[in-house]
Amino acid sequence: MKSFQVLTLFGIRILIHPTFFILPLFFALFYGYHYGSAVGFRAFMLVVLIFVCVLLHELSHGLRAQKLGIRVPSITLYPIGGVASMQKIPKEPWQEFSISIVGPLTNFGIAAILFFPLYFTIGPDALYSPSLETWPQTLANVFWANPVLGLFNLIPAFPMDGGRILRSALSGHLGYLRATRISVYFGHLFAILFLLLGIWKQHWMLVFVALFIYTSASREEKYAVYENELERLKKDSENASG
Ligand code: ZN
Repeated sequence: MKSFQVLTLFGIRILIHPTFFILPLFFALFYGYHYGSAVGFRAFMLVVLIFVCVLLHELSHGLRAQKLGIRVPSITLYPIGGVASMQKIPKEPWQEFSISIVGPLTNFGIAAILFFPLYFTIGPDALYSPSLETWPQTLANVFWANPVLGLFNLIPAFPMDGGRILRSALSGHLGYLRATRISVYFGHLFAILFLLLGIWKQHWMLVFVALFIYTSASREEKYAVYENELERLKKDSENASG
C-alpha cells in the first residue's frame, strides 16, 4: 500500500500510510460503541493529537539531520508510530547521537510546555486523572503520552532512538560494525520481550511494534555488513592498484 502526501514541512514531505487510519477509527468505534458517541469522538481526537506529538518527534529528527547536511525526503506516519527516512545514517557517533536524542527531548519539551497551561486551565484533578470522560481529561492524556513516548523511545531497542544512542556510544571504541551487531542484539532481545509482553497482556500494538523492531534491526545489521564489505573491497582494490 502506498503512502500519500498530506503536506510539506521544512522541505520534508509528510506522508500517511493508509493503515494509519485503522487506529483512530478503531478507537472511535470501540469507545463509541461501549461508552457513547461523545466518548468515541474524544477517543478519535486523542489519537489524532498524540500523532501530532509523534510527528513533532519525527520532525525534530529530520531537522537535526538536515542541519548536519543529511537529506530527509519524507516522514511517514504508521499506526505504530512515525519514521523519518534519511538519505543516510551518519557513522560519526556524535551525529547519530544528536539526531537520535532530539526526538525524546522533543516529547519531554512538549510535556513541559503543556504542563502549566493545562494545570491552570483544566485543574490538577483533571490533569492527574486522565480519561475520556471530559475534554479536559482527554487533554490530560495528551500531556501524559509525551513522557511515555520519550521514555519508550529511549529503551535501547535498536533501531529505536535509545538503540541508536547505544550504538553511537559503542562505535567509538568497538568500531561501527561491532557496535551495530551489539545494538541489534539488544534490539532483538527487547523485540522478543515486547512480543511476549504484548501477547501476555493482549496488547496487540506492542506485538506489531515488536515485529517492526525485530525486522528493522535485522535489516540494519545486513546493511551495515554490506557497507563494511563494500569498504573492504574498495580498500583491497586500492591496495592492489596502488
Ligand atoms: Zn525517534
